[in-house]
Amino acid sequence: MSSDPKVIPSNVTDDQIRSALAEAHVPSLMLALVHLTGDLSLIRSAIRPQPAFMSDPQDGISEADQAAIRAKAFELIRSARDSATPAVASLTEAQVREMIGFVMGQEVSDNYVEFLTAELSVAGEDAYGQPNLHRVNVSDRSKFTVIIIGAGMSGLLSAIRLQEAGIPFVIVDKNADVGGTWFENTYPGCRVDSGNHVYSYSFRQKNWPQYFSSQPVLREYFADTASAYDLRQHIRFQHEVISARLDEKRGVWVIDMKTPEGSTQLEGHVVISCVGQLNQPAMPKLPGVGAFKGPAFHSARWDHSVDLTGKRVGVIGTGGSAFQFVPHVAEKAAKVTVFQRTPPWVLLNRQYFSEIPQGVHWLLNHLPYYARWYRFSLFWKSAEGMLAAVTVEPGWNRPERSVSEANETFRQQLIDGMQEHLADRPDLLEVCTPNYPPGSKRMLVDDGKWFKTLKRDNVKLTTNALREITPTGVACKDGQTLEFDVLIYGTGFKASEFLTPMRIYGKDGVELHEAWAGEPRAFQGITFPGFPNFFCTYGPNTNIVVNSSIIFFSECEVRYILGCLAELAKRGPGTTMDVKRDVHDAYNVRIDAGNKGMAWGQSGVNTWYKNASGRITQNWPFTLIEYWEQSKQPDPSHYQFSKGA
Ligand code: NAP
Repeated sequence: MSSDPKVIPSNVTDDQIRSALAEAHVPSLMLALVHLTGDLSLIRSAIRPQPAFMSDPQDGISEADQAAIRAKAFELIRSARDSATPAVASLTEAQVREMIGFVMGQEVSDNYVEFLTAELSVAGEDAYGQPNLHRVNVSDRSKFTVIIIGAGMSGLLSAIRLQEAGIPFVIVDKNADVGGTWFENTYPGCRVDSGNHVYSYSFRQKNWPQYFSSQPVLREYFADTASAYDLRQHIRFQHEVISARLDEKRGVWVIDMKTPEGSTQLEGHVVISCVGQLNQPAMPKLPGVGAFKGPAFHSARWDHSVDLTGKRVGVIGTGGSAFQFVPHVAEKAAKVTVFQRTPPWVLLNRQYFSEIPQGVHWLLNHLPYYARWYRFSLFWKSAEGMLAAVTVEPGWNRPERSVSEANETFRQQLIDGMQEHLADRPDLLEVCTPNYPPGSKRMLVDDGKWFKTLKRDNVKLTTNALREITPTGVACKDGQTLEFDVLIYGTGFKASEFLTPMRIYGKDGVELHEAWAGEPRAFQGITFPGFPNFFCTYGPNTNIVVNSSIIFFSECEVRYILGCLAELAKRGPGTTMDVKRDVHDAYNVRIDAGNKGMAWGQSGVNTWYKNASGRITQNWPFTLIEYWEQSKQPDPSHYQFSKGA
């Protein structure tokens, strides 16, 4: 197996090594040492990580054990530095399997070994590459034109992969720059809630200043990515897609767009929608919205011209956005009243606002394989490793609390965390304790800042139900009226209204939303029967509930879409591929059944994961490895191929 290109610099001093080790994530360090030495006994002792729900930065390894590992690491790294022929050991698949098992704390199945060997790139693999497309000859690939809608995370990724494959593409975006959600959401406190070493492209890591970046840092990451791959020359900014229409005869899609100058059209053989799920702000369904005379805005349309200093501010909502901006608003406003309908479960993470210490940067940049194992340990802790705790146990019947014994334990851990912060405020503890199982709706992450904010003298959390918005504030169902200077809607997005407000006309002029009739579904979240050559990223049932990283899904989806392009390129321009109805329907039966077996599918709590009929339209119910496997490449028998004139 090939080595990580990183090398220990020969001029690093003993003190620098010691201070880097003081900050190390010890499980990742232990695995990096195995690469350095080939000595598996390093991970065969009793010192093992305990994958846990509540974040312990050292995954349960005691201080004494950490010290022992650091001392050993110092000797080994120093000797590698001083070695005339520094090298990393060549490891067998069985050894890599053992190392993966060390992180996971359990037996490892073959599909994980394949995925993780590629994700870790131990042999220089690309876990999300599409080899099939590269097998099609270059001139056949270049005959296709692809239109990408959206220059956010998935749009840039699609462009990068198409560029690598030599397929011409154009990106259109309604905004004035790249970044999508990280361009649009500028509210104070906006920050990612997945660790950045997983919330990043597999092929583009960076020296993140913090473990969880703030919006400006993420916006810059995507802007820098666009520049690094020279993508801006392909992007038409301020081009908002109004409709896409299939010209069946010619096998092309015609896109109508609104621009600052008027309107324009574009044609392509293939469309990839990269518009995301959370980009159409939802206002509360209350009488009087719009009647408020003072400044009023939605979190995703933050009005930075409004000075909140000394103001009485009303905030509606306690979802991911309000959870992040209320602490900042509270620092300025005279009084903040937060209207809570459903309390969120809060996952406490001590590192949520922490800077990444220099020592950790040194390890990430110089110790071979450290960064890759660190990324994997986050992937495991925040995704696959949590799934068991949100899976319904048959016969468990405590719908207001939990869905299984593991979920009950998880609940208790979350409550213990809340108690740490709210023990002195039993009134708040009571209203902040959810009466639904953890995992039923999006869990929120911080280091306790939300609870601290709720305890401030100038913050009032109220569970008073709203009746209407009035010109001067709000009226509550209990008859109380409250006056505000500013109203902020943290009321989320029209998540179930996928691809709106665009109108998408497929075969026989059928419009996608009309075909859905309020029940958005897709095959693998990517293709829709009757809409050939229209591909979707972050489509129906591709959202992850436990935090992990949506970039993982996008990388899988784009790999699949490029596999579809390989099928089209083999058959020539004008070819269309349409997913078969029965394949699509059978897939969705499996998805619906899967979701019923998860906390979010069983609980009756309000959540944007469901549509108006109560069906889970957003979430993927299985392991991430299953999605990775099923999206490796398309099965041509799932599609009907036709050729236009
Ligand atoms: P959200 O989670 O849908 O929250 C909307 C909030 O508004 C909920 O508390 C909801 O209450 C409340 N609400 C809506 N209508 C109401 C009414 N009539 N009366 C009272 N309350 C009302 O939206 P969001 O906070 O914008 O977050 C959406 C998603 O975006 C998140 O779940 C997350 O996936 C993503 N996000 C991510 C980050 C991040 O990564 N850092 C940050 C922000 C958002 P109910 O709960 O009762 O419906």
